[in-house]
Amino acid sequence: MMKQYLEMKEAHKECILFFRLGDFYEMFFDDALTASRELEITLTGRDCGLEERAPMCGVPFHAADTYISRLVEKGYKVAICEQVEDPKAAKGLVKRDIVRIVTPGTLLEGNSVAEGKNNYIAAIVSSEAAYGLSISDVTTGEWRTTLIQGENDLRKLLDELAKFAPVECLISENCPHYEDLCTFLQTRFNALVEKIPPHCLDETLSYQLLAKHFGVLSLEGIGLYPKEANTLAASCLLHYLKETQKNELSHMHSIELYNVDTYMLLDLSTRRNLELTETLREKRRKGSLLWVLDQTQTAMGARFLRKSIEQPLINAGEINRRLEATKELVENALLREDLMEALKGIYDLERLMSKVAYGTCNAKDLLAIKQSLGQLPLIKTLLSSTSSLKLKDLGKRFDLLEDIFRLINHAIHEEAPLSLREGHLIKEGYHQDVDHLRQIKARGSSWLMDIETREKEKTGIKNLKIKYNKVFGYFLEVTQSYNHLVPDYFIRKQTLANCERYITEELKKVEDEVLGADDKLTTLEYQIFTQIREDVLKEMNRLLAVSAVIAELDLYCSFAEVAHQYDYTCPTINEGSRITIEMGRHPVVEKMMGDQNFIANDVELDGQGEQIMLLTGPNMAGKSTYMRQVALIVLMAQMGSFIPAKSATIGVVDRIFTRVGASDDLASGQSTFMVEMMEVSNILHNATPHSLLILDEIGRGTSTLDGLSIAWSIIEHISSKLLGAKTLFATHYHELTALESTLSNIKNYCVAVKEVGEDIIFLHKIIAGSVDHSYGIQVAKLAGVPSMVLDRAKAILKELEQDTSVGLPSTVPLPLGQTSLFQIAEPPTKGVGRKSHKEGELDTNKLAVLEELKGLDIMELTPLKAMQVLYDLQKKV
Ligand code: ADP
Repeated sequence: MMKQYLEMKEAHKECILFFRLGDFYEMFFDDALTASRELEITLTGRDCGLEERAPMCGVPFHAADTYISRLVEKGYKVAICEQVEDPKAAKGLVKRDIVRIVTPGTLLEGNSVAEGKNNYIAAIVSSEAAYGLSISDVTTGEWRTTLIQGENDLRKLLDELAKFAPVECLISENCPHYEDLCTFLQTRFNALVEKIPPHCLDETLSYQLLAKHFGVLSLEGIGLYPKEANTLAASCLLHYLKETQKNELSHMHSIELYNVDTYMLLDLSTRRNLELTETLREKRRKGSLLWVLDQTQTAMGARFLRKSIEQPLINAGEINRRLEATKELVENALLREDLMEALKGIYDLERLMSKVAYGTCNAKDLLAIKQSLGQLPLIKTLLSSTSSLKLKDLGKRFDLLEDIFRLINHAIHEEAPLSLREGHLIKEGYHQDVDHLRQIKARGSSWLMDIETREKEKTGIKNLKIKYNKVFGYFLEVTQSYNHLVPDYFIRKQTLANCERYITEELKKVEDEVLGADDKLTTLEYQIFTQIREDVLKEMNRLLAVSAVIAELDLYCSFAEVAHQYDYTCPTINEGSRITIEMGRHPVVEKMMGDQNFIANDVELDGQGEQIMLLTGPNMAGKSTYMRQVALIVLMAQMGSFIPAKSATIGVVDRIFTRVGASDDLASGQSTFMVEMMEVSNILHNATPHSLLILDEIGRGTSTLDGLSIAWSIIEHISSKLLGAKTLFATHYHELTALESTLSNIKNYCVAVKEVGEDIIFLHKIIAGSVDHSYGIQVAKLAGVPSMVLDRAKAILKELEQDTSVGLPSTVPLPLGQTSLFQIAEPPTKGVGRKSHKEGELDTNKLAVLEELKGLDIMELTPLKAMQVLYDLQKKV
């Protein structure tokens, strides 16, 4: 057996091998050490023909799924080695084989396969100057592939990966930027990255593999061509899945070819900054756009909503058709409520069908499918009275799947157990033989009761009982006190402390019949069950098509319900370049605020005279909220959702870029400023006249002068080179507001605040014009900064403001950003209105101080002396 084990292990070195031994999966050697540590299970040892005992640990087979998921979620791959023949029938060693390899991207159960979320595996290859990317979720059968080429292909690829956040990725080593891609996947998504072996990249074999899978001679009909990278990526993925899943993957019956440019382009940082599916810091769902928008009733709907958020549409016609459907459901509350009620009863058909495809589905799963299908007639009737194009079309595409419903309904017992090997699976009346065997069993139990009563009377043993156990089968139990009454024909089987166990010829006969019937019944029921499973599997395509219809319907219902609950309105979508929002609100902040009053604001961007909106205002005034709100409203509208505003007209936007706040990119080892500039560079290179740009406090990460200059030139660039790109630009550099008078497409706006004595009240209202105050000290006060610090800050500020000629008050050591203490003379700053130094006076003082500092022998100074020196030095500057 150990030899068999070692052979298996040799072929699957990279996996932890779960080796089936009776009722356990055992692990040996290093695998045992790893598994016992990671799963916190006891490590034992086993004689294995070697000098030393082999470290070993094991888990019971019926609980193995949880252990496997836990290991895989920790990044391991697990190979499951089963006994593939009946141990009773085996001659010598039981045959064993690897039946499945579980990897992060192919996990079917466990925490990471959360409802409403996909678990993606990806493959990336490159060929003929293009990347091919194929993505799949084996738990739902979703499978897609795309070709990414042309300028910025790497960035597009990264953005696309960010959309799906795969947990496992196969990459061919010849991909340009191979190392970067690996690092990106590992650091961003904690993904398991694996090299695609060169033989999988053979073009002819790849083509054949796919053609065979889809049962076609040529893939051209599907739109895939032999040498293209998307074909290769799809086949590498399929190859890997077949190798690991050891299964036909019939639920991956079709592949979607898509073009990354069909959807609104949202780069990685925009997705994160706008907190589309999780919050930036805590990575929580609560506080994200998804959290507000998700009123879906089914898991399919929830996943489709998530996908729609990740990829809003850019085709005005399609968006309007979605909006029309949403509108009908908003206006017809009764229809919406009925539909939602009906959808509620539908289980995760996609995941259930993948279980059917994997042969792991049990009777409860089939019953769940049946229950789901039971809802279809009602939904179809409800849809038949609709008038919007989309809903009518969904109604037409609705297949009631009555045959499958009937099949499961007739065959599967409502109270069927989880296990398939205990019988009770098949309903009465479905199969003659099952009914017959059940009758024999039933008769058997009444025979047994008969025997018990008869023998009791005959022998006079009052407490005589027929009992059953696995070892002896049925027996008669007699307590010691009645031993003297036991007749000759009782055959003794076992003696226990206080009783004896017997059988009789008659009992043996009945037992043979009953147990024989039982065995036969269990086997037969299992066979019938697997046949039904096969029959359902044959209808895979129809079931998945209905799942897709349900997902879409659920999305519109959810949009409509959200619109109803939060008072959203229908936007007008066109191909123009204007974005007008009247009384817009931030969907998430508004919901978070509950009963408090969210202040609505307008926006008017036309890509021409009103191309760039320059926004000033103190911290906490609501600038970020406002800018994100504009982006989110546009994004929601392009998903086909209603929006939080009184009204809006939105010219379709092809991409949204954001540069907001500090990025938490410490993992990649880049400074905040570096990341900021990389993002800005991406925006300036890739924005088009139809893009929407959100830039929040550009230049904050460097010294004041650097930052101001960079912000300044970026605005100039957008204004002259990115004509049409609608831009919201928030800044603390009030100097920038001067640009309104020199550039024709910039308008200044600010957030209104009300001064009350020394304090301020935020009005959160965006108005035309600019503010020349930052109110930093007032904001610091609100944040609870100690009054001593605040008072000192006020004094410094006063001095700074009064002494405009000097720029730096005598008691303030260089308050400007990150300017160095040893930088004697600042470079002259032309045109940006910054105060300049009065050079001579300051420099002489500084030089003297520096000289003295240099001359100090620090090691000789006592703490007291040091204080004195500091005091003297301070007086000099
Ligand atoms: P800034 O970017 O100007 O520093 P934020 O956009 O972060 O300010 O807003 C600060 C806080 O003000 C938000 O957390 C929110 O609670 C509140 N706020 C912002 N905009 C509004 C609004 N329109 N109505 C009500 N409260 C708002």
